[in-house]
Amino acid sequence: MASKELIKNLEDTIENIPDFPIPGIQFKDISPIFLNPKLYESVIEDLVTFSKGKVDAVCGIESRGYLFGIAIAVALEVPFILIRKKGKLPPPIISEKYDLEYGSAEIETREGQIQKGQRILIHDDLLATGGTTEAAANLVEKQGAEVTQFSFLIGLKGLGGDEKLKRFNAEVYHILEY
Ligand code: AMP
Repeated sequence: MASKELIKNLEDTIENIPDFPIPGIQFKDISPIFLNPKLYESVIEDLVTFSKGKVDAVCGIESRGYLFGIAIAVALEVPFILIRKKGKLPPPIISEKYDLEYGSAEIETREGQIQKGQRILIHDDLLATGGTTEAAANLVEKQGAEVTQFSFLIGLKGLGGDEKLKRFNAEVYHILEY
């Protein structure tokens, strides 16, 4: 869906940092996008086109999911809900535990912000193994809402992210794939 020009501009802008934060990881740094307001606008426009008329609310995953997620929600004129790491949100909250490679983690939302029956877009900057996104989708379903879309700037192939999201029967979109 994204134009060839947008894809090329993003490829030229996003920096790949090998072996960060640990050996073997190719870290994709999206921060140079924010040095270029026109490019940022084009990214939002593309992500908004994907979701227009299809969702009732947007959930963003801490913290890079907020950088684009709020702008998407504002443009769609729908609510934005923060999904945060454990211990950051005041009560009442709903939480979801999930497994990491070593140990486990937990994410939370404020209770009552997601409404039953809402069609939800879950947005993050990057899909890797899909662990965080899957936990976010479970958290949404726990509240009686339906995840109908996932969007990312970047999808990393071969890490199992897309497979993990299949069971939600939602549309999955990433502007770039590596
Ligand atoms: P995952 O749960 O494995 O899909 O990881 C997704 C989260 O980790 C996203 O919020 C990303 O911001 C971050 N992440 C994972 N891998 C990378 C990477 N190679 N470059 C930048 N961020 C990453």
